[in-house]
Amino acid sequence: MVDVSSKGGEAACTGRNLQAVNSLSFSRRSFLAKTSCFGAFYALAKLIPLAALAAELASDSRVSPTPIVDKGFASVRKIGSGLYATISDPSKGYTTICNGALRMVSQVPVKGALDTHYHFDHSMGNSFYGANGVPLWAHATTAKRMVDNYSPMQGADKGAVLGPLEKRVKDAKSDIERQHAQSDLNAVTGLFQIANATVLGLPNHPIDPARLPMSIDLGGLTAVIESYAGHSGTDLIVRVPEQNVVYTGDLLFSGWYPVCFDEKATVSGWRDTLKKFAAFDKDTLFVPGHGQICGQEGIAALREVFDDIAGQAEKMYKAGLPAEEAQHRYLVPDKFKNFPIYAWGFTIGPAITKLYAEWQGK
Ligand SMILES: [Zn+2]
Repeated sequence: MVDVSSKGGEAACTGRNLQAVNSLSFSRRSFLAKTSCFGAFYALAKLIPLAALAAELASDSRVSPTPIVDKGFASVRKIGSGLYATISDPSKGYTTICNGALRMVSQVPVKGALDTHYHFDHSMGNSFYGANGVPLWAHATTAKRMVDNYSPMQGADKGAVLGPLEKRVKDAKSDIERQHAQSDLNAVTGLFQIANATVLGLPNHPIDPARLPMSIDLGGLTAVIESYAGHSGTDLIVRVPEQNVVYTGDLLFSGWYPVCFDEKATVSGWRDTLKKFAAFDKDTLFVPGHGQICGQEGIAALREVFDDIAGQAEKMYKAGLPAEEAQHRYLVPDKFKNFPIYAWGFTIGPAITKLYAEWQGK
């Protein structure tokens, strides 16, 4: 979620998240404490604290060296003139999942908000904007994808939704497969709880990707919306070219394994997108969907992760190992051992099966 607010010539634009506006943070905080939506959900991520700012960024004059607000579970940094980013730290609590937020640093009127894509952790704060008359922008297919994916869960029988995943845990052929199945069960349990506890709010300003890039004058600040392939089929980024700042949504997982499960996710498309990001100015500041603010080194790291997954998968493919087995055999190398894995079957597993499908020409 990217919020945009303006007052006179001053404009502010922040990262995206589940509930980008502070008053919602507090109401949702107590609400989430009751439902403990994220307890099981970030079972792996919670063990790994948010990475510190890279040394180059700590001395970058655009970035406030220490957060201007720090709530533990999330902290806000100024990252440019009129630009802010709120970065979540799931190791300190699950009030927010992804990055975003504005109300903690400013009370100026919110003129608009943008869903970077349809996924629940970025869109299930939408009803707050609707209730407050804030126009909500998103890729043209975001509303439909939200309805198609999350409405059926509302009121569904929990056993029917989770049963097949519980069976996978029970029937697992090895400890590794059992762990992977358990991480998937945890993730879907969290999703089911959130979907049932949330009033879906649909964006009312659909953006036709054919009309992008689109420049928006925020009063002294020009933001450019662009669309790229890779993570969800609904991905938008917001660039502020004059300041070399880019809000990427989930096209960038900074210091995390990428979430690739979406039926519209494409590994080759995503890798192409990262190559384009790598060609952005060398001083570009990226605000990712998950993980720490970063420079080009964050893009390079995610490209390396994809290279590593593809490299391991290719060896297994050439050795004739079926995709169903190969998806469980990836070994996390030492250099990525601190990269959170949201759930195996949402990240590495589907990355491998999608790569296999690409190689098989499916
Ligand atoms: Zn996502």
